[in-house]
Amino acid sequence: MAVRRRSGVIFLRVDPVLCDGFGHCHELAPELVAIDEWGYPVITTEPIALANDAALASARLAVRGCPRQALRIERVNER
Ligand code: SF4
Repeated sequence: MAVRRRSGVIFLRVDPVLCDGFGHCHELAPELVAIDEWGYPVITTEPIALANDAALASARLAVRGCPRQALRIERVNER
């Protein structure tokens, strides 16, 4: 049986208009989200490989845990 590897990357994005700036996403995914001096998220600009299960799980946790639905995952397929 062949094993298909997931290719491509994701980016975690924030809508600054929806964000309340309480920084819950930083608590959920500190390796992906820092906070600025006012408590607003500063999201890593590094692409997250789909094959990186731990980082992908953290990104999903942050999206699910955002009380304002201000976070989303944007998938980019590699060519
Ligand atoms: S959890 Fe959502 S609303 Fe709260 S700081 Fe993060 S992106 Fe903004």
